[in-house]
Amino acid sequence: MNQQQNIVVLGSTGSVGVNTLDVVARYPERFHIVALTANRRTDRLFEQCVRFRPEYAVLNNTEGAELLTRRLREAKLETRILCGDSALETLVALPHVDTVMAAIVGIAGLRATYAAVCSGKQVLLANKEALVTAGGIFMDAVRKHQATLIPIDSEHNAIFQVLPMNNRSDLAAAGVRRILLTASGGPFRTLDRAQLVDVTPEQACAHPNWEMGRKISVDSATMMNKGLEIIEASWLFGVPESSIDVVIHPESVIHSMVEYIDGSVLAQLGNPDMRTPIAFALGYPQRIEAGVESLDLTKIGTLNFIAPDIKRFPCLSLARQALRAGKSAPTLLNAANEVAVEAFLARELNFSLIPELIEHVLAAVAIESLQVLEDVFRADRAARECAQMWLECGRISSKTHVLVG
Ligand code: NAD
Ligand code: MG
Repeated sequence: MNQQQNIVVLGSTGSVGVNTLDVVARYPERFHIVALTANRRTDRLFEQCVRFRPEYAVLNNTEGAELLTRRLREAKLETRILCGDSALETLVALPHVDTVMAAIVGIAGLRATYAAVCSGKQVLLANKEALVTAGGIFMDAVRKHQATLIPIDSEHNAIFQVLPMNNRSDLAAAGVRRILLTASGGPFRTLDRAQLVDVTPEQACAHPNWEMGRKISVDSATMMNKGLEIIEASWLFGVPESSIDVVIHPESVIHSMVEYIDGSVLAQLGNPDMRTPIAFALGYPQRIEAGVESLDLTKIGTLNFIAPDIKRFPCLSLARQALRAGKSAPTLLNAANEVAVEAFLARELNFSLIPELIEHVLAAVAIESLQVLEDVFRADRAARECAQMWLECGRISSKTHVLVG
């Protein structure tokens, strides 16, 4: 490719965002950064602006945006600073933008990622919650606007890599029997139920193989991450829940597998480093250097595979249940999970109560069909309200208990 690729990085200050810029920096001739965006981290965004000189930078709050404007002016940079959600939607749709890296965490990334799809861009999708919450609407828009969607999530990127290049949309016709998602099992893989009760946010965020943002780290610890990935895989590859299996593979060397009807199982392997799927997607269909070390299998020696334990990690079953129920159920699951993870990180909710809160929301909030994006946000709000009430009532009943006791 001779022409420069113009890129917007949504969520550039996060774990995926920083890894994206690491790969981009290796090819200054090939990639041009149009915009970098962040929620609050003004310092990191400023440093990124100095290094990559984007046309635009976006912060999610006015105070931070004003501060960044001042600092960039002092540094004599011409980057224009914008603020808020609508700025993201405008930027991803700019005619000269070719590629959008969607790396905002949570449903917060949905509007901008959807806008990129509706503008027919090449969308590199890390923001799995966009697909989990709005799967049908999102995939319809991909088809309607002929957007190119390349998964960044390492499992889905692995599957994308081992599917036949000429048929990644009709897996039955491609002879696929099932998809095998691998999971590291997270930091609490070997803990029993009693030990899981009082684990801390610090322990939950210390993932054995991957360095990631705090939300996805907690999701890995509860295994909700794998649940969200089952839903993500179902939408991306058009396969039912029953065709997606999960296997615990603590070494995180095999990033996922596809089994074909002749019994062949194709896997993609590599060191656990997000720069591999990011470089795959940025260079696609060409392979480009990502700065990732060669895989030394003799050093690793043994690869292990274990069946997931849904008694200790019920989030996995809750996600399957939501996917089977369809309509707004995955949206409710995601919203309840986002509230639960936030409460856990704020030390307001016990780790082992995360699945209880999600189960409550799935049972209490009506499941409705989703036609347009606003239906998704309505379901999201209803689930959040229900989850907040559960958190508050939980606190009241524990106070009552103290008084009675
Ligand atoms: P992170 O928390 O490290 O970064 C999130 C980014 O989103 C930051 O730049 C932050 O400023 C921005 N952001 C957060 N809330 C925002 C808001 N309300 N408005 C605008 N911007 C906002 O997260 P991460 O680990 O990089 O994960 C990003 C996404 O990629 C998630 O959906 C995650 O599930 C997925 N993912 C991450 C990894 C990984 O290795 N980190 C792997 C696979 C998939
Ligand atoms: Mg993953």
